[in-house]
This record gives sequence, structure tokens and C-alpha cells, in this order.
Amino acid sequence: MSHVTEFDTIAAISTPIGEGAISIVRLSGEQALTLANRVTTGVDLTQVASHTIHYGHVIDPQTKQVLDEVMISVMKAPKTFTREDVVEINTHGGLLATNRVLQVLIGQGARLAEPGEFTKRAFLNGRIDLTQAESVMDLIRAKTDRAMDQALQQLDGSLNHLIQNLRQEILEVLAQVEVNIDYPEYDTEELTTKMLSEKAQQVQQRITQLLKTAQEGQILNQGLKTAIVGKPNVGKSSLLNVLAKQERAIVTDVAGTTRDVIEQFANVNGIPLQLVDTAGIHETDDKVEKIGVDRSRQELQRADLVLLVLDGSRPLDEEDQVLLQKTATQKRIIIINKQDLAQAFKPQDVSANADSVIQISAVAQAGIDQIEQQIQQMFFAGIQRQQDGAVLTNARQVGLLQQAQQSLKDVLTGIKQGMPIDLVQIDMTNCWDQLGEITGESAPDELITQLFSQFCVGK
Ligand code: GDP
Ligand code: ZN
Repeated sequence: MSHVTEFDTIAAISTPIGEGAISIVRLSGEQALTLANRVTTGVDLTQVASHTIHYGHVIDPQTKQVLDEVMISVMKAPKTFTREDVVEINTHGGLLATNRVLQVLIGQGARLAEPGEFTKRAFLNGRIDLTQAESVMDLIRAKTDRAMDQALQQLDGSLNHLIQNLRQEILEVLAQVEVNIDYPEYDTEELTTKMLSEKAQQVQQRITQLLKTAQEGQILNQGLKTAIVGKPNVGKSSLLNVLAKQERAIVTDVAGTTRDVIEQFANVNGIPLQLVDTAGIHETDDKVEKIGVDRSRQELQRADLVLLVLDGSRPLDEEDQVLLQKTATQKRIIIINKQDLAQAFKPQDVSANADSVIQISAVAQAGIDQIEQQIQQMFFAGIQRQQDGAVLTNARQVGLLQQAQQSLKDVLTGIKQGMPIDLVQIDMTNCWDQLGEITGESAPDELITQLFSQFCVGK
């Protein structure tokens, strides 16, 4: 996969649309230099050395009108992100000017890039594999430093290397089996099955290790879906605001005012939390309220973590008990709020394991760090990183590894049941294919198109 496929030349604004002082219009493809040359004055870009930056002006080639004063970076193939010629025009003039620069380039024959198309070219030109492409996407979306670190590590290709190694080992065994089958006179059947089953077990172990990283990886990547539940007025919205460190949810003295479900993002020691304040899951006859309650129930079921909030200043009641019961099987933290007021009950009244109950005051912002530590403990304690830092970051990777794991199981069952060796071989080959899909080596075209369409334009 080292050849460079020839594509048309694409262009897009690759910095976030908005206030920024500098925006970048990026071009990639055969014609990148010629096109950029036609719309700029200054040096002849086709003659400059690779990886140099030049001062100039962008002009409208028809009217000769100057559109912006710019710096132009020239990066020639193959040492570029896409492995094609890349030109980046750094504009100064704000969104309007940047758009005009893009327009003239399109007027000259560049095509507006699709979302993720630059990264897709890097993949198609063999510069990166699919796991690395996915980490580019993760980088763009990363909400915390920790999530960013993980994406950077993946961009480095650690998962890719690991998978490549496993595939290579499987391939070697398959080749050996092939040789043995070709020389039946040596009566190598026993040796062959032994070799296959040893390799299958080895790979199985490594995949099991890797699958263990999925939880941490996916949490960092997608966030921990956290439902804040509790009867009206216990302080759910106040807690949400403190955790999110922003005023967003409506805090009121009237019970049941948080009608709808409110979502917020919080960064807890680098763990992204997707917080949902629910309207409560009490029984109700009010139609509007019922919609909110139904949604809350769903949110609760889908949550990775439940923060059950109780009001320490009021005695526990029926509604609290129902919630305690309903959430008992989920990963949860029981929180007694309003510690700044006189307390109507004790932690041990709520749970036999009183240590796991956290006492806080949302208004005084006391005890919040204990919640944060508890979350860290619940989801990240005891997870061992792979030596090489490979981490699974999404459901696609996990799904394929589970399939590969099943194929290995089939290999071992087949051997145990004395199945013909060429059938066992098929299962081993399946495993090899499934691993290849993770890195994109045996990924179908539709999948690739679908994956890259999740990117934003300009990446
Ligand atoms: P929710 O209905 O569960 O979302 O509760 P809110 O967050 O809207 O809070 C209800 C009322 O309790 C508001 O008047 C808050 O100011 C108050 N409140 C929330 N947390 C505390 C706390 O820790 N101490 C005290 N004294 N009042 C609180
Ligand atoms: Zn509320």
C-alpha cells in the first residue's frame, strides 16, 4: 500500500470557522501548486523548495482585485499529510476574505473537499491506517487533555502496530500449515494442529488484553453518560452546575421545575462526563410532565453512571426509597446534599456500606472532589495499559476484535473435535481478515466512505 493514487485537487478551510485571527485554506492534489500560483502574486510557487513559507497576495485572476495579504506554505509530495502536494494559504482577513480565497480556488478548478477527505487521502495513499484516521477524528473532538493524549498516542500508530504484528504471526502459521498440507507423506498432521492451537491461544490472550483497554478508551473518547437523579428540589441542577462549572440548568425553589432533560459536559480529572439532569422519575398524571418522566427513565437506563442525589435536610421518604431501589443494580454514587443545613438522617440509614455514600453541599461547593475521586476509582482503577500504549477507542474496533476472538474460539473447538485441517484453516483466516478490517487493510469501501464522512470539512 505504498503507491500514491491520483486524485483531483481538493480545497477547504481547515481552521474552525469563527473569530480566529488567522484562517487556513488548504489545497491538496496534483494541481495544488499550479492552482495556488494562479491566484497569488509574489514568488512562483512551482519553483520554490518544499516545506517553505512565502509572503504574497491572493488576487482574483479575472478582476486582478487583491483579496487578502497571505502567507503561503508549500509542501511537496510525498512528505505531506496526504502524500500529495499540499498548499496552505494563511489568510488574515476574517471569514469573508477566507471564503473569497476559497471561492477563487474553486473558480480555478479545485473541488470543495468533502468532510474528512484530506484524512481519507492520507489513508488511501498509505500514509496512515484506519485506527490512525479515527484518532484524527478523536483529536478534533477531544474534550479533555486526557482524551487528547489518547488520540495522539493512537495517531502514532500503536494499535496499528499491535494488530499488524498479530496478523503477521497468524500469516506465518497459516503458511506453515499450507506447507504441511502439501507434504502429507511426512505425516505432520499432529504437528500442524499443535502449532495452530498454540498460536490461536496466544493471539486470543493478546486480544483479551486489548479488549480490557476498551472501557477506558471509549470513556475518554465518547464520555461517560452520567444521569443525575433524585426527587424534586434535592439539588440535582445545582450539582450539575457545580460539576460543569457553568450556570446552565435552571435552579429554582419550586419542586419539579426541571421539566426537560438537560445535558451538560463536565471534565472530571480528564474524564469527560456527559451529564444529564433528569426531571425525576416519579409517577405523574400530568401529560407534559409524563413526557419528561419517560425520557428520564430512558436516560437512566442508558446511563453508564448514576448520581443519586438525596436531600440531607429532609427525612428520607418513599420517593427516595423507590429511587434507591430502582438504581441499585447500576453503577451509582449515592450523594447526600445540603450538608450546610441540619441533617435529618445519616449515611448508614441509606446504605449498609456508609463509606460509599458521599456527603456534599452543592451551594457551598463542598465534597465535590470526593465525587470526582469516586468516579476515577470506579472506572479507571485497575485498568492496565498495554505496554505499547495501544488502546481501543471505539465500538467498531471492539466489535471486530470480538469477532476475531470468536474465530479463534472456532479454531480451538474445531481442533478439539477433530475437524479437517482445511476447515480449521478457514477460521484462522477469518480471524486474520477481521483484524485487517480494524486497520483498514481488508475494510470494504462502503465502510471507509461512511467512516470518513463523520469528519468535519477541512480535515
Ligand atoms: P433539583 O430540583 O433537584 O434540580 O434542585 P435544584 O438544584 O433546583 O435546587 C433546589 C433548591 O435547593 C434551590 O433553592 C437550591 O438553591 C437549593 N440547594 C441546592 N443545593 C443546596 C445545598 O447544598 N445547600 C442548601 N442549603 N441548599 C441547596
Ligand atoms: Zn433541577
